[in-house]
Amino acid sequence: MRDVWKLAIPPKLKMFLWKMKHEAIPVNARLPARQIIPSAKCTFCDEDESIKHLFFHCPFAKEVWKDAPFASNLDTDQILNVQEGIQFAMQTKPLPPTGINSTHLAAWIIWSIWLARNQKIFQNRIFSGQNTLLKALISAREWQAAQSNDIRTQPQRTAPQIENYSDAIICRSDAAWRPGISTAGLAWSFYRANGEIILSHSKPTSFVISSLVAEGLALREAMEHAWTLGLTKVVFESDSSQLIAAVEGESNFSDLHGIVSDVISFSNSMELARFIFRSRINFVLEDGLAKQALDAYLYQPH
Ligand SMILES: [Zn+2]
Repeated sequence: MRDVWKLAIPPKLKMFLWKMKHEAIPVNARLPARQIIPSAKCTFCDEDESIKHLFFHCPFAKEVWKDAPFASNLDTDQILNVQEGIQFAMQTKPLPPTGINSTHLAAWIIWSIWLARNQKIFQNRIFSGQNTLLKALISAREWQAAQSNDIRTQPQRTAPQIENYSDAIICRSDAAWRPGISTAGLAWSFYRANGEIILSHSKPTSFVISSLVAEGLALREAMEHAWTLGLTKVVFESDSSQLIAAVEGESNFSDLHGIVSDVISFSNSMELARFIFRSRINFVLEDGLAKQALDAYLYQPH
């Protein structure tokens, strides 16, 4: 299969396909032990939500692919694994009337299925297969036009005049750091604006030199997760005032340098990303998960 990095699609989609190939997309059937809420069940049906299922075999995905304007239809029943699915999908050719000739429509369809899944989980919004396909077509056309036109005719993204947080997702990250062994547990959760929890993740990590760096790593993991989910408006909360000050550019900690620059590039790719300090009392769940991840790592047989 052609290298995903060489496909005519934006870097975000290349990264997503690469993660798909390496089974690194946070679908429900993956990492069940490290994830609380939801279960392994598919967002759209009763099967387990594996990557192969969600993008190719789920009735929802099939509905999206079925109407895709390809010269020959993608028969998703033939797909035996994710690699093959991506390969077959990228070989499809959009019909001439779509006007899509210099980007891989199938990549946009995959991304659109992923966004529809996340909007259902995060915003309780339900899109039809047709609507999901339409969004893929529009995005593919817009991107294609932006590539070929000169800069003046590109659609300008207008900054919102008033920042509207009401539909933003809240993300709380926290870390538990053990000095001496330089190991940390990282945890983060996503909440709706009304405080309802959507999901949590945690993981251990080693070679962490300070508690501040551990907090930074937790925030970076949370942001990468939000970015992979295609979330566009997120308020990131931390109980480390030093970390928030560093991210806001108000102070400089050399240990955090690489982490802060990653955090800034993730936030630049979002419509709205805010960083807020909140007191520890708000992080009971994340603190517990971070400690659990650290303990599980320390006491597992190596
Ligand atoms: Zn399904």
